[in-house]
Amino acid sequence: MNQKFDIIIGGAGPAGLLLSKELSKYFDVLVLEKENVGKSHITCYTYQDRVKKYKMHDAVMSTCDKIEFRTIYNHHFMIDKCAIIDKNILLSRWAEDNNSEFSQENISDVRHYEGSVRVITNKSEYEADLFIDCMGANSPLIWKKNLVKFFKVWSCYGGSLTNLNPPDHLQFFPMNDKYNTYLMHYNFGPSRMHAVLFRNLAENTNPVDIMSSQFKSVMKRFPGAKCEEILFGNIMTGALKKTALDNMLFYGDSGMFTPSACGMGFNQCLQTHQKMSKEVKQHMDSNQLSEKKLAQITPNVLNQNAMDFMQIVNKVGFYNNTQEGWKNGVDWLNEMGRDSKYWMRNEFSAEWGKKALKAFFKTNALVDIAKTVPASEYYFIVKTASRILKNFAVYEAKDLFYRQRKGLADRKILRGLFGDK
Ligand SMILES: Cc1cc2nc3c(=O)[nH]c(=O)nc-3n(C[C@H](O)[C@H](O)[C@H](O)COP(=O)(O)OP(=O)(O)OC[C@H]3O[C@@H](n4cnc5c(N)ncnc54)[C@H](O)[C@@H]3O)c2cc1C
Repeated sequence: MNQKFDIIIGGAGPAGLLLSKELSKYFDVLVLEKENVGKSHITCYTYQDRVKKYKMHDAVMSTCDKIEFRTIYNHHFMIDKCAIIDKNILLSRWAEDNNSEFSQENISDVRHYEGSVRVITNKSEYEADLFIDCMGANSPLIWKKNLVKFFKVWSCYGGSLTNLNPPDHLQFFPMNDKYNTYLMHYNFGPSRMHAVLFRNLAENTNPVDIMSSQFKSVMKRFPGAKCEEILFGNIMTGALKKTALDNMLFYGDSGMFTPSACGMGFNQCLQTHQKMSKEVKQHMDSNQLSEKKLAQITPNVLNQNAMDFMQIVNKVGFYNNTQEGWKNGVDWLNEMGRDSKYWMRNEFSAEWGKKALKAFFKTNALVDIAKTVPASEYYFIVKTASRILKNFAVYEAKDLFYRQRKGLADRKILRGLFGDK
């Protein structure tokens, strides 16, 4: 007989580990990971307040107070307290401090079976009430089940370099080439730095084909440096046709939860895992595991306005980059001043969103956007911008209504306490 669990999670990256850590407090959880748990080729930067909030102090390799975006025309310093994390320390700790069962197995398929699911691996078969796919951008399931609506791939390749003077803050530079390549580097402890090239690939380019040239480009920029560890991966941005099936959910990069534009999936998992676990627990407790019910989780967990805004920035940036090397993007960040950091952080209030959209169209005039982006994309940008503005207006009106109602309630309490004066 197949071994049965309440929940099976596929993949032990940040998404799988964070979710399993929370959910194993209440349920029997099995985590299936094809590689060694706790090892990954990703790099992770985050913010010092998040280090504190999620207790990640032991994994901090360096800190800085600003992020720099530099082009040949202009530059912007995003003022924020950042932290560079050693992901291996963190992922190993999340696996140890976890009540789930772990097994090293490669998942090939998940099939529905009498109101539950059957998970098939290279070694065995298991059953569960709920399967959560946290297998990242290359999850075999999202492709097998034909769930991907649209996507773009950022191919990332670089290394952990020694034998050089590391920068004292995080830096981003565009390379002004046909791939919209940009270089990111930062200090990773004493005399060590991480340098990674991000390339926005055309749909028919295979990331594997350009990896070695990408690595050579990085090393050429740092003569004399030695590479101690290769850092690589693909960042996928886009959307799924469905974020749930009966008894099945997609989370992390496999759920395309990475907001378009900056690929901060690690930060997304940090920010959303507790909310996601709470939603999953509620659905498990009330046995609401149908596709229709589970599909309600994603809109509850994500800030849709933030995701839409990222799409606009990404689309405009994509068509502008090759000609102007981020010029308008950096102009926009300068226009936002100190508030620019909320874009990288993906922390959007209605007030911030309105200011950001206004500043964005001031530095990227709609008439110019119409000249550079294809008509269908232009239509998407205008439609999405007006929807965001309308959403923000509705949100603000609701907020005002509740505050007024609360004011009325407060006045009622005061009248009760002090008489009707
Ligand atoms: C070079 C690089 C730098 C980055 N830097 C940052 C950063 O600084 N800050 C930030 O916020 N984000 C960053 N990101 C993005 C971030 O790393 C990802 O968004 C994040 O790792 C997504 O987590 P995940 O758990 O969803 O997927 P992943 O980290 O991809 O984990 C998926 C896991 O599933 C396993 N798996 C896959 N297929 C199977 C299978 N068939 N069976 C079993 N297991 C399977 C994989 O081995 C892997 O362990 C970076 C990404 C890259 C590539």
